[in-house]
Amino acid sequence: MKTGTEAKRGYGVFGTRRGDRAKIFFRKARSLLYVDRCVCVGCGAELPQSVRGGLCSECLSRSIALGSDICAKCGRIVANEADYCDTCINRDRHFEKARSCFVYDGVPKKLIYGLKFGGKRYLASFLAESMTDRYLDENYDCDCVIAVPLSEKRKKKRGYNQSELLAEEISGQLKLPLLTGALEKIRDNKAQAKLRVNEREENVRGAYEVKDKAAVKGKRILVVDDVITTGATASEVAHMLYKAKARSVKVLTYASTRYTAPSENIFDEEDVYEDEMV
Ligand SMILES: [Zn+2]
Ligand SMILES: [Zn+2]
Repeated sequence: MKTGTEAKRGYGVFGTRRGDRAKIFFRKARSLLYVDRCVCVGCGAELPQSVRGGLCSECLSRSIALGSDICAKCGRIVANEADYCDTCINRDRHFEKARSCFVYDGVPKKLIYGLKFGGKRYLASFLAESMTDRYLDENYDCDCVIAVPLSEKRKKKRGYNQSELLAEEISGQLKLPLLTGALEKIRDNKAQAKLRVNEREENVRGAYEVKDKAAVKGKRILVVDDVITTGATASEVAHMLYKAKARSVKVLTYASTRYTAPSENIFDEEDVYEDEMV
């Protein structure tokens, strides 16, 4: 409770002057929103000119771009020359196909961490540029964009949903409508990081619900997320959208993990973070 005298002097509950707090707020907001397009988003090096995706040639050379050596279904890199990874051969995959820009490692991984956990919302526009290019390279032909949702509780805690930020940017860049609120996450599942693919499928089952079936019906939908790992989340989301009579569901993410045999741990210890979206 502020006393009348404190309020008159302009001090807040933490003893900071209102003016100072406003300055700090705007400085912070500016640092999160201000986008210098002539600086590499990966390493901070100066760029001769702004480039799509925001990465300098050095950072790009240290990022593995996903092209032809990928699973035709889920888009993850496959070590051998097989057309499909074992997960896509052996399990139901409800999405038509999924594609990513980079392997989830090095610079791309750092950028996703920055967007997701570092509050660097401005990164969304750069990541979305690479994703839009991937969309066009793949000849995706969607009618609308949907972000993989977070639960209300999780979104409140983080303040935003990184997939929504990416979906907004992509929707703007491709001039496709963004369906907000059509799909919701209705329960929090436990962290996916340590689970194997079958456990992940079980873990996300029933976690998503289509709230606006009319918006989805007959549509070719682009589902946007930041990372795809096993594809269990993407598959469950696609399943729900097809149940609501979507015409097709394609998935687009910035990065994807390498395919890992189901018997192996998907993440190293350092990669385990308290999150559910992967
Ligand atoms: Zn760089
Ligand atoms: Zn696959």
